[in-house]
Amino acid sequence: MYPLKLYGDIVMTEDCLFCKIISGKIPSNRVYEDDAVFAFLDIYPASEGHTLVTPIKHFSNFTDMNSEDVASLFEVARKITAAVEKAFSAEGSNIGINNGEAAGQEVPHVHVHVIPRKKGDGGRGIKSIVWTEPDTNNLEEIAEKIRRAL
Ligand code: AMP
Ligand code: ZN
Repeated sequence: MYPLKLYGDIVMTEDCLFCKIISGKIPSNRVYEDDAVFAFLDIYPASEGHTLVTPIKHFSNFTDMNSEDVASLFEVARKITAAVEKAFSAEGSNIGINNGEAAGQEVPHVHVHVIPRKKGDGGRGIKSIVWTEPDTNNLEEIAEKIRRAL
């Protein structure tokens, strides 16, 4: 990863598609920008108004972000969600991150998908992404495993 540009004290990377979009090297349909967050339309939208909300600073993985960066990212995601719902008279939305290649992440620069939804649009909920039918007889054991990992 090579530094592309300093955005305040923020380093971007030369080989990342979304860093190039954020810096304007590649065109996009920008809907919002502040000093920490950039939002633009997904070029292959799942529904009309599908927007991607990204930190300007390059992070490949959500868990690499610090709490301040996460707070600004999700506050903008909240505002964008309200705006796309209003703009497209949506009745709801799916808001989510594909985190890591195994989870379907294709562009390794963190981004929140905001996908406006309408009743009867044929789409489904978040559990339609994956359903591995894990054992549910040991939920307390599973909760304890996660608590220990925190
Ligand atoms: P993900 O699978 O979560 O990494 O999502 C990457 C998203 O980026 C996909 O929904 C693509 O449609 C979208 N995408 C890819 N290239 C572009 C681009 N040049 N401009 C806008 N969105 C893009
Ligand atoms: Zn990047």
